[in-house]
Amino acid sequence: MARHIDILEHPQTAIEVATATLAQGLPIGLPTETVYGLAADATNPAAITRIYETKGRPRFNPLICHMSDLAMAERYAVFDPISRKLAEAFWPGPLTLVLPLRSDSGIHPLATAGLDTVGIRVPQGFAGELIRAFGRPLAAPSANTSGKISATSADHVSDDLGERITLILDAGASVVGVESTIVKVEDGEMRLLRPGGLAATEIERVTGKALKRKKKASAAIEAPGMMASHYAPGAAVRLEAKEVFADEALIRFGTPVIAGIENAVAVLDLSPAGDLPEAAANLFDFMKRADATGAATIAFSHIPDEGLGEAINDRLRRAAAPRE
Ligand code: AMP
Ligand code: MG
Repeated sequence: MARHIDILEHPQTAIEVATATLAQGLPIGLPTETVYGLAADATNPAAITRIYETKGRPRFNPLICHMSDLAMAERYAVFDPISRKLAEAFWPGPLTLVLPLRSDSGIHPLATAGLDTVGIRVPQGFAGELIRAFGRPLAAPSANTSGKISATSADHVSDDLGERITLILDAGASVVGVESTIVKVEDGEMRLLRPGGLAATEIERVTGKALKRKKKASAAIEAPGMMASHYAPGAAVRLEAKEVFADEALIRFGTPVIAGIENAVAVLDLSPAGDLPEAAANLFDFMKRADATGAATIAFSHIPDEGLGEAINDRLRRAAAPRE
């Protein structure tokens, strides 16, 4: 079973044990403001292989490389002016930039799935300090079995991966609760590769430019086969619920009128006040709790598509997508 270290009670021990574990090429459970990461040395092929094996993740799916600050990131990737402006505005924070990789970067091709670009993020707080102490970038996907609900607490990590890793650092619940927003700048245009914990409007405000979406959310719903199933609980997932049926757990946002609520196996409120950041922070934990009730289906009431709602709805559509 993995050793747990509380980083608030024992920050120095956490840094020392974590850097020693990473130096051995072993992945660790690492708290960040978005979700908990399964982090390993991005320059060590054996370490990166262990990330893919521990998660059961397909190797064509590249990993985000985490840096301590912009200066460190500039040693590994080439920044265009718009990407640099975004980095200066939002790092440390829940924004990943996809950038051309420097040829001599030392980041192993396994981390980037052989691409000539790299996804880079500077996380807030302890994770950034650990990277500074370690001196090398950390490749880190979310600390959960591939395709399952992301981990937002040390207990989530230990329930899922505790038998397969040696160290989990504990910083309580992740404050943002959904993964980073991923942006790629190409020919002076900003493309949104994944909505996430930084609202698209914030990115547009700072740059004065529109973010281009890959495809409209509605098109994605009409063509569910286009979307890989991800973030999947054991239960089925039903969206835009206006009523609840027997055998269903209900996850609500705000105070909607839901018919048949007395039928629900459980009712969980993402944010009674209708606050999207609060809902994002609760999302994955509530999905796990609803799943643990044994309900056949988890029904979600409508969640607006603005601000962090764009990231929440992206995760919910994938959770509801047909599974293999
Ligand atoms: P995850 O670790 O599951 O949050 O996923 C990280 C995601 O980052 C991947 O699924 C990709 O969509 C994206 N990503 C990472 N690196 C790159 C890259 N070099 N080019 C495009 N997307 C990337
Ligand atoms: Mg993930």
